[in-house]
Amino acid sequence: MRGRKIVEGALDLLYPPRIYCDICGNLIDESRTYALCDRCISRMKWDRDPVQELGGVKMLRCAEYGIYERTMIFNLKYRGRKYIARDIAEIMRDRLRITDAVFEVIVPVPLSPERLRARGFNQTALIGRHLAEMTGTVQVEDALVRARNTRPMHGLSPEEREENIRGAFRVNTGRIPDLSGRRILMLDDFATTGATAREMRRALREAEPAEEIFLSFAARYGEAIRRTSEDDAD
Ligand SMILES: [Zn+2]
Repeated sequence: MRGRKIVEGALDLLYPPRIYCDICGNLIDESRTYALCDRCISRMKWDRDPVQELGGVKMLRCAEYGIYERTMIFNLKYRGRKYIARDIAEIMRDRLRITDAVFEVIVPVPLSPERLRARGFNQTALIGRHLAEMTGTVQVEDALVRARNTRPMHGLSPEEREENIRGAFRVNTGRIPDLSGRRILMLDDFATTGATAREMRRALREAEPAEEIFLSFAARYGEAIRRTSEDDAD
């Protein structure tokens, strides 16, 4: 028993998280930006565009949703590599810097109590905690609560997503003083159609914040924005 303990301890020392790429697991040196290897960092579809507007919500994403972005989040979310939250928060901090986005309060998308129990942590809130610390802001983790359960969004059409998420959140009335008159950064790991962002904003409106902007790590809504501007042109 004793021998085994020593081996486990030794492994912890030999393999601190930041010597492996967060995405592919290849060995990297610790000075590497965001703990990503050269190959993975060059294949991420980084987004440097200014803030976009989608369905009346100001949207910002760090990257377009692709296989590398998905793997990074999945490693955090389903493989329990919680240290990745800090690296994603660093990416978000830099993304916010290049757009001069101003905010005072971070509000993460809430998980359902069932999913929170099953996973043990809300990955978005974990990212938000690091981001708040890095940016000198505060996160109000329980600003929004789930009003009802929703189905997983995966595989749903844009219309079904909208329907699935409608009325899913409500503002935590006890937190209204922390939100009213503030500039709020709404946070999520992924975005697809922007339906969750719109629902978060709808719920937060009850607290009368000064402004809301939505930031996700990766998003696919580029297509939705193109569609909207084509509609506008008609
Ligand atoms: Zn890699």
